[in-house]
Amino acid sequence: MARKKKKRKMNTLEKSVEEETTKGEKEDSSSAVQVTEPSDSVMSSVSAADGVAATALRSVIQRIQHAAERCGRRSDQVRLVAVSKTKPVSLLKQVYDAGHRCFGENYVKELVEKAPQLPDDIEWHFIGNLQSNKVKPLLTGVPNLAMVETVDDEKVANTDSASSLSLVNSRQIANQLNRVARDIGRKPLKVFIQVNTSGEETKSGVEPDGCVELVKHVTSNCPNLEFCGLMTIGMPDYTSTPENFKTLARCRGEVCKALGISEDQCELSMGMSGDFELAVEMGSTNVRVGSTIFGAREYPKKQSN
Ligand SMILES: *Cc1c(COP(=O)(O)O)cnc(C)c1O
Repeated sequence: MARKKKKRKMNTLEKSVEEETTKGEKEDSSSAVQVTEPSDSVMSSVSAADGVAATALRSVIQRIQHAAERCGRRSDQVRLVAVSKTKPVSLLKQVYDAGHRCFGENYVKELVEKAPQLPDDIEWHFIGNLQSNKVKPLLTGVPNLAMVETVDDEKVANTDSASSLSLVNSRQIANQLNRVARDIGRKPLKVFIQVNTSGEETKSGVEPDGCVELVKHVTSNCPNLEFCGLMTIGMPDYTSTPENFKTLARCRGEVCKALGISEDQCELSMGMSGDFELAVEMGSTNVRVGSTIFGAREYPKKQSN
């Protein structure tokens, strides 16, 4: 099936910058002032943190633009997902008010709680591991879910084998997303296929060898999903190397060849706080930046979906 080439809408970044610029002109030195302003208010510490997030957002946007310029790309070819997991709605609101619209969360329960408290023109990206039984709550609870970045093979511990991981129901998540998207009558859900590029045992991502097959499954059997590209986290400790990025780009080559599509029809979601500029220079179209915008995360204990 020939997929119709669509002009991708990726102007979130530009829009944020534009709105920020006009805002900056109007409000003078904007959030730098805000940090020291409401000194007698009990809200002052919150305001200070919020101002910091807006400033950090602006700086990340600029760094993306510079990275794009360095390699002759346009910055509107790069989407910034502001990864807001564990962060309070008030902080997301501040980043929203700074003009940003694309946010990423990776716990279903948290996203389903936050989404209704925020404007519905937010484009939510789900970037966490997804279990089949969480698909329905996610899609019904977040009507403005724009993308699921983490469609992968589901792996479970296999005690019978020397290898501790094995593939089971490898297409189950895609099928379930497809089914629920159809049942609730929403528009086709954009998805990325998550690829394990570290070569290490990790619970997330299809092996590079398996990605063509999984992409083909999605494009031929899941009409309510729209395949948009590939995603990787990198190493199990959430760092990445240039090798991880190269592997993902190589996977894109294979996918595009197998599907007969051009590379600009297959996005690359790679790059996080520590390496988003490198990722942009290596072709990323979707960077997921959390702590550099919102500050370090505090985990009381391991959270689950
Ligand atoms: C948390 C998370 C990020 C953001 O990580 P930072 O290092 O804080 O930028 C990006 N991608 C995924 C999948 C995540 O879970």
